[in-house]
Amino acid sequence: MSFFADAMRVRWSTRVALVLFLSACSLRAQTKPSTWAPTADQVNSVYPAVEALYLDLHRNPELSFHEQQTAAKLAERLKALGYEVTSNVGGTGVVAVLRNGNGPTVLYRTDMDALPVEEKTGLPYASRVVSKNDAGVAVPVMHACGHDIHMASWVGTAKLMADNRQQWHGTLVMMGQPAEEVVGGAAAMLKDGLFTRFPKPNFAVAIHDESVLPAGQVGYTSGYAMAASDAVEITIFGRGGHGAQPQNTVDPIVIGARTVLALQTIVSRENNPLDPAVVTVGSFQGGTKSNIIPDEVKLQLTVRSYKPEVRKHLLASIERIAKGEALAAGAPREPEVKITPGANATYNDPELTKRLVAALRDTLGASNVVEIPPKMVSEDFSEIGLAGVPATMFFVGAVEPEKFAEAQKSGAVLPGLHSSLWAPDYEPTLKTAIRAEIAMLVELLQK
Ligand SMILES: [Zn+2]
Ligand SMILES: [Zn+2]
Repeated sequence: MSFFADAMRVRWSTRVALVLFLSACSLRAQTKPSTWAPTADQVNSVYPAVEALYLDLHRNPELSFHEQQTAAKLAERLKALGYEVTSNVGGTGVVAVLRNGNGPTVLYRTDMDALPVEEKTGLPYASRVVSKNDAGVAVPVMHACGHDIHMASWVGTAKLMADNRQQWHGTLVMMGQPAEEVVGGAAAMLKDGLFTRFPKPNFAVAIHDESVLPAGQVGYTSGYAMAASDAVEITIFGRGGHGAQPQNTVDPIVIGARTVLALQTIVSRENNPLDPAVVTVGSFQGGTKSNIIPDEVKLQLTVRSYKPEVRKHLLASIERIAKGEALAAGAPREPEVKITPGANATYNDPELTKRLVAALRDTLGASNVVEIPPKMVSEDFSEIGLAGVPATMFFVGAVEPEKFAEAQKSGAVLPGLHSSLWAPDYEPTLKTAIRAEIAMLVELLQK
């Protein structure tokens, strides 16, 4: 009897515990709002137009700040979808706003420009465009950085967001930015009222295609993701003369050579090894002939860093070393050191990144959202963050998955961005980009 009663008590208490557990689970499920994601059918339904636009943009690339036809194609499509579209913002920039009730404002950015690269992919839709650059020189033009992928998916996303506006609320600002490759377009749009003539966003998001990830995957980097970039030109003055009579000259080639070597000690000896920094002398020009010592030489450098204090230190050291080497050689004049500031470092807001990584994992599957290391290349999407808006950029894999797996095994280096052979596996890349973009936007604009 007592045994039976005990067994009954156990069974009852187990049942009560189970009921409590299940109701706690359903309560938890109710507190997490379910966010909308487009079905595969919905993505497939917009895809033919997205692909046609991609191929058209790829065949007809335009150089930085000359994206007139490109911008018109984006503006026309978003106007047809019911967005309020403004063209010629900061040059050829496009701003398309979709107001959908109360809620946050979120900016989604694509860049629009192509590069002076001759396409060598041999693809049937390869670019054969030749345009004049700003110096009036005819150059081949190619979407070698994949900004055509960004634009085509941007339009697909704009359509699905407009067609499914019952699934989200707030204001969506779609930004078509010129001149990313010369890191001038974002600043030009901000100067032309991006945050004053149009709703100022609470958050900003962008994607870039990625050559170190297979199509279907999305990469993220929290915190510093891309570097600040500055150009430095150093003119070293000597005293020229006959190559056979060096005693009557001050040889700027030798001062230049010493300067190049001394500059290598900035990163290796002066900089904290835990702070990324690059000083590259990409051009060394001087002299015309073997038996003439020239009057001057010119060095051109690119300087990359993340932290503002590191950036300041690198630039100051370059100037100090250039002047010091000239002084040591008895140069008749101090060198001229001209610094042209470029992009600021891109900082991906860690909190925003974490929130969007969770949303992307829900949509794409946890194994398809991977952390990737920061890079020393640059991006002017950084300007949006520096203007006070939490911002983050994600990276959409664009390499054919089989080719990617083979390269991983063999160690082969596949063509990367800015290569004349860069050829994204466009269908899965575009579809993943659209799904990722919508997942992020709906997370930030959820009901
Ligand atoms: Zn690029
Ligand atoms: Zn790019």
